Amino acid sequence: MPDAIETIEVHTAPAYEVAIGPGLLAQCGQYLRSMIGPLHMAVVTDSIVAPLYLDAVAASLQSAGFSVSTHVFAAGEPHKNFETLSEILEFLADAHLTRTDCVAALGGGVTGDMAGFAAGCYLRGIRCVQLPTTLLAAVDSSVGGKTAIDLRAGKNLAGVFLQPTAVLCDTDCLASLPADVFADGAAEAIKTGVLADELLFSLFEDGTLAAAPGQIIARCVRYKAGVVERDEKEQGERRLLNLGHTVGHAIEACSAFTIPHGHAVAAGLAIIARAAERLGWAEGPIASRIAACLSKNGLPTGADFSAQALTAAALSDKKRTGDRITLVIPRQIGLCELKRVPVAELMPIIAAGLEV
Ligand code: NAD
Repeated sequence: MPDAIETIEVHTAPAYEVAIGPGLLAQCGQYLRSMIGPLHMAVVTDSIVAPLYLDAVAASLQSAGFSVSTHVFAAGEPHKNFETLSEILEFLADAHLTRTDCVAALGGGVTGDMAGFAAGCYLRGIRCVQLPTTLLAAVDSSVGGKTAIDLRAGKNLAGVFLQPTAVLCDTDCLASLPADVFADGAAEAIKTGVLADELLFSLFEDGTLAAAPGQIIARCVRYKAGVVERDEKEQGERRLLNLGHTVGHAIEACSAFTIPHGHAVAAGLAIIARAAERLGWAEGPIASRIAACLSKNGLPTGADFSAQALTAAALSDKKRTGDRITLVIPRQIGLCELKRVPVAELMPIIAAGLEV
């Protein structure tokens, strides 16, 4: 690998490598050939990413000896559903992919979730490589093996765990991201900072992230890789990664998915931080620092929904078990804990966090 490319090994079973740096999409054929050999690669991407990067990826794969089939679906969270999944599965079958072939997810978190899910259930599971093109997919969703589609009842309610065979994260892709999509990724990276990395958080406070996207992505991936290695199937520690997501998913659902995931997570993070401070669970004044950092990065710190509506949406979320729900509570910047609270306490917690 050239010096500009940083690699991080994720020690799941099987282990895989995340490569981060410029120019990786145009060289993906060469990298993937060395990792998995030339085979039939089914590239799945969305209608916005396809005109930007699909030709370069297909050309690179073909010149490295891969045979390539491509499928483009309509971009956006409203398409992260059964219909699109079904189309992808039919495409894989029509393209005659076999058990030894591979799917490439070229795009943001929506593409990664759906192409990953399709790979995980086609022929009872074939390999998938992730080629993330949003900051959110680079810092979070492309690593860890969670895949999903949304159901009418809520977000990410159907999916499988499928660790990718490789992740190639081309930092050049960030240049074509609209500002609000870039901000979505900043939200997940700021979340990682609040969870475990105060220095990372301070890069977003200072606004110095644009100068060093590779460094930010690598810090997030290293942290997530460690958590996933210790708790691949989210039985314990991995639940920490849901910081901001209980309220965040509720905000997405209440907005009928018009508020994007990263923006909703940012608001969810600000709300749970305010609640933690007001209820005495935080070890000091963290809420205003978190809100200021989110605002500086173009992200919301609240939501125009009632505590009642958000609670109802949150309780239909999958993280509820019996009459309790597990929340991720920030105690300091860089330190969070899991807290199981009775379902009946959720509404007052959310209400405490909504009050500015
Ligand atoms: P997305 O995939 O919808 O991408 C956002 C928008 O950016 C889309 O319109 C897309 O077409 C466009 N886009 C992508 N790359 C681009 C580029 N380089 N230049 C210009 N436009 C580009 O959404 P996202 O924010 O990347 O991901 C959100 C999704 O990820 C949610 O569905 C969320 O549930 C999921 N997610 C999954 C995990 C996981 O562990 N599996 C973790 C976090 C989030």
